[in-house]
Amino acid sequence: MTQIEELTTPTTHRSPGEHALADAQAQLAFAVDLLGYGSGLHQLLGSSRRETRVSIPLRRDDGTMEVLTGYRVQHNFSRGPTKGGLRYSPDVSLDEVRALAMWMTWKCALLDVPYGGAKGGVTIDPRLYSQAELERVTRRYTSELQPVLGPDKDIPAPDIGTDERTMAWIMDTYSVNAGYTVPGVVTGKPVSIGGSLGRSTATSRGVAQVALAALDHVGVAPTSATAAVQGFGKVGASAAEFLADAGVRIVAISDQYGAVHASSGLDVMRLHEHVASTGTVLGFADADPIDPDSLLTLAVDLLVPAAVEGVINATNAAEVRATVIVEGANGPTTAEADQILRSKGVLVVPDILANAGGVIVSYFEWVQGNQAFWWTAAEVEERLRVRMLAGWSAVVESSQRLGITLREAATVIAVQRVAEAHQIRGLYP
Ligand code: NAD
Repeated sequence: MTQIEELTTPTTHRSPGEHALADAQAQLAFAVDLLGYGSGLHQLLGSSRRETRVSIPLRRDDGTMEVLTGYRVQHNFSRGPTKGGLRYSPDVSLDEVRALAMWMTWKCALLDVPYGGAKGGVTIDPRLYSQAELERVTRRYTSELQPVLGPDKDIPAPDIGTDERTMAWIMDTYSVNAGYTVPGVVTGKPVSIGGSLGRSTATSRGVAQVALAALDHVGVAPTSATAAVQGFGKVGASAAEFLADAGVRIVAISDQYGAVHASSGLDVMRLHEHVASTGTVLGFADADPIDPDSLLTLAVDLLVPAAVEGVINATNAAEVRATVIVEGANGPTTAEADQILRSKGVLVVPDILANAGGVIVSYFEWVQGNQAFWWTAAEVEERLRVRMLAGWSAVVESSQRLGITLREAATVIAVQRVAEAHQIRGLYP
């Protein structure tokens, strides 16, 4: 069985990672079919170019030792070095990382940044480990992967459970091992060591930009729009802030501990302060707690899932009452849910477009670092806006021309660009 056959074989008890990978493969299969590519090219596009699994022995603060598992999947490097986040979560699996790496390939191609896709993960719940332990995990992971990382090879960035601190540890470890400072090995690093202004909020800014474009597309003005946001981390929190700044009334926000609701609109800045001091949205004054699952089925104009994969699925898609869904998270809508939402007329702005602001400004960070010349925050914001809106227009145009969904259109544009790179480069030997 080929990797594709193995991964698209239906199973009754799929793990979330297997689900994500099956969805990613199904999206690719649709694009390959529409573009009329043969099975060889399909196989090439559907297989990871390189997959690395490492054991990470960790000395805990209490002196005991345990061994964690880390992955780095480099899906495709036909258009340049690979790029993708590093995730620390107990749910990390090889299949999940494979799916996320493939989506990164399409995202980079769609937004025309000169990278292929990669993703990394460590199976760890970072809340249960001290900063010192997380630093040791990160440094060992980096050291194990040193041969396949680098500014011209593969460039990690933050994702769930990691942040700019993690990127600083990776940069330092990689640089010490190399014998000189290599800022370009990561993006999303602190500004003080070569990070870009605007990177930490870039994903959220892009989410808000396409959300406003999508609301406009369905004829809803920001000031009369309501929204619900799932996830109040790096993506969800600032996306809620940017949307609120544009006049959108954010009526519900959730995190992994629960959800809060206020029909008159949540004060996102104050919620931010509450989360900074308590660690959760729960207990926020001027809001009522609601069942977190019900947030996804509220009657709102805009729903922004910005947490994890597979949250809008066959069990709840029929109940979704949002007009527009903008995918802040990667893979929040399953393939079954996509079909249901399409039949209900819900406009779904796919992850590979909606949350691409992060990789766009990561690219800007890499460019600035390579040139040792830094841009102002205003320059970063404007260049991001231009690329996001160009991506939005291209996807809408292709969707209307071909009579397909925004996700299908985005995937077709991206797959075609990657395939062209393969075809023009040819096969070696
Ligand atoms: P994060 O760890 O900063 O935040 C995740 C948030 O989701 C937290 O508030 C957490 O409490 C919440 N959460 C987790 N499980 C939940 C659940 N079941 N229900 C409700 N909330 C839940 O992570 P992040 O960087 O914000 O990433 C979120 C998503 O966005 C991921 O899918 C990630 O791959 C994607 N993404 C992130 C970036 C980036 O630049 N950070 C870029 C592109 C895509």
